[in-house]
Amino acid sequence: MATPLIRIYGDPVLRTKAKQVRELDGGLYDLIEQMVAAMCENEGVGLAAPQVGSPSRVIVARPDTEEDTEIFRLINPRIIAAEGSQEGMEGCLSLPSLRGEVKRSAQVVVEAMTTEGKNITIEATGLLARVFEHEIDHLNSVLFVDRAAADTLCWLLPDPDAEEGYRLEETTIEEAEQRFARLLAKRRAKGGAQQ
Ligand code: ZN
Repeated sequence: MATPLIRIYGDPVLRTKAKQVRELDGGLYDLIEQMVAAMCENEGVGLAAPQVGSPSRVIVARPDTEEDTEIFRLINPRIIAAEGSQEGMEGCLSLPSLRGEVKRSAQVVVEAMTTEGKNITIEATGLLARVFEHEIDHLNSVLFVDRAAADTLCWLLPDPDAEEGYRLEETTIEEAEQRFARLLAKRRAKGGAQQ
């Protein structure tokens, strides 16, 4: 099973409101495992189904990129309570290399169904809360750039001379949109955007 390609900003599926999952079947389990594989391969902390081309209300998330960390596989997740606020830099595998500061709730309670069909609630704080908020936004066709403070948008560029191994370069949403449009056009020319 090949790891699915992550859809890039400008792909209409990212702006499509995802549909409620009604049935737990083989197709759904395949989708979830493909999402987990894509998340891990791309060293992400979360992924929503539209990012692999499926407008279904499914997310996967993990509190960090450590191998033995718990991976959440959530069906029809929704935030039922939110409290406090946190600000921090955010990125998204569908907007590669772009970062921006996003204000989120500090704590959330998420209600969802597990892959066994059990209804659960999860209390999350800090990074995991941020990840859940970001991924559930995807299901409502909202991307982090919609919420990011415009003057904080920047590219994270690899830089061997920098102490951290990367540097930040300021950008604008217009410039970012143009760059992703070119990336998308290149992919479409190769036939990669269609599965
Ligand atoms: Zn994202």
